Amino acid sequence: MSTFRAPKGTYDLIPPDSAAYLAVREAISAPLRRSGYGYVETPGFEHVELFSRGVGESTDIVTKEMYTLTTRGGDRLALRPEGTASVLRAALEASLHKAGNLPVKLWYSGSYYRYERPQAGRYRHFSQVGAEAIGAEDPALDAELIVLAADAYRSLGLRDVRLLLNSLGDQECRPGYRAVLQDFLRGLDLDEETLRRVEINPLRVLDDKREAVRKQLAGAPMMRDHLCEACKSFHERVRDLLTAAGVAFEDDPRLVRGLDYYTRTTFEFVHDGLGAQSAVGGGGRYDGLSEMIGGPALPSVGWALGVDRTVLALEAEGVTLDLPAATEVYAVPLGEEARDLLFGAVTALRRAGVAADLSYGGRGLKGAMKSANRSGARLALVAGERDLAEGVVQLKDLESGEQRAVPADGITAAVREALG
Ligand code: AMP
Repeated sequence: MSTFRAPKGTYDLIPPDSAAYLAVREAISAPLRRSGYGYVETPGFEHVELFSRGVGESTDIVTKEMYTLTTRGGDRLALRPEGTASVLRAALEASLHKAGNLPVKLWYSGSYYRYERPQAGRYRHFSQVGAEAIGAEDPALDAELIVLAADAYRSLGLRDVRLLLNSLGDQECRPGYRAVLQDFLRGLDLDEETLRRVEINPLRVLDDKREAVRKQLAGAPMMRDHLCEACKSFHERVRDLLTAAGVAFEDDPRLVRGLDYYTRTTFEFVHDGLGAQSAVGGGGRYDGLSEMIGGPALPSVGWALGVDRTVLALEAEGVTLDLPAATEVYAVPLGEEARDLLFGAVTALRRAGVAADLSYGGRGLKGAMKSANRSGARLALVAGERDLAEGVVQLKDLESGEQRAVPADGITAAVREALG
């Protein structure tokens, strides 16, 4: 071990486990790539104000969890705690919304940083795949995104992901509800910090997980009873489209989420095998965010799914992904001359699309065959001096142990045939 360890709340992705993370990213992004979403990549850091304005001054993410720094030039930057604000910033900066082709549909994948108290499933560095559909107020778009996320989980073989759904209203109906909720909350027995939250962002109090608070929230007024007609019918359309697509959901009138920018449709995917950190993904509509960061009115919807927790969910359900073998053929040269020959053979195999590896460092037969078995390869190519003299190499099936000589100038064809 070196003197250094990964910082608290972080961990390294190391083979062979790292393969599952790649597969999860691939599985989440595949449905998006088939549905008109283009890939976007933004910097790992942004101006602090983008998040304080976009995510919300009073949210835990902004007040407690951002990694901020001041550059030598005096810029105040933050490592990105989430993706939506950056993606919208990038879309506005590139004027994608002006190309006359709304909605702008984008997907992304990357690392995010939050200074949280680390625990199982909650890290300070984690990975998300996300999608945003910018510039259209259409319930079919909300439904599309939810269906694509549900399909991604299903394609991975997850069965126990539940979808929670709510509407947070809009600028028409939310202010009235907010006032009613505040009246209710002010009458409760709450600590100083929570009372402050009641004044700044009362909806977030509904999300309080503490038992003492939860008990008092039993009779709290709910947004769904205060939705205006437009929000109500929008939400009904989303629900109908989800039902038509065969995506099951549970109405959760308390679902609010930790970011301020959400309006109308809000949803979360949870997995019951994960303990306290049960949210595997979430998102919603954010019709006001563009204006909050200085852009034009662009009603939008999006989600972010957590890669780390999706991998944990797979483990919790005992799902093993059907991953392609990292190495199909492992070559074992015995001697200099054999190495030159097999180096050429491995290069040709790789160019022909076969995953192949070679024993390096002049190892003996025993050690090299151990590596061959450990690599998970189905076949080994072994060549020694006598084989070279005869113009052959030995092709060994590592499962059955069967071995036969194949011509040295016909290795690729023989391997292909053996792999079927
Ligand atoms: P959020 O942006 O908070 O809605 O998060 C979206 C998803 O990212 C969550 O459902 C989690 O799967 C994942 N996520 C958020 N924060 C963390 C974290 N600290 N550690 C691991 N995953 C996280």
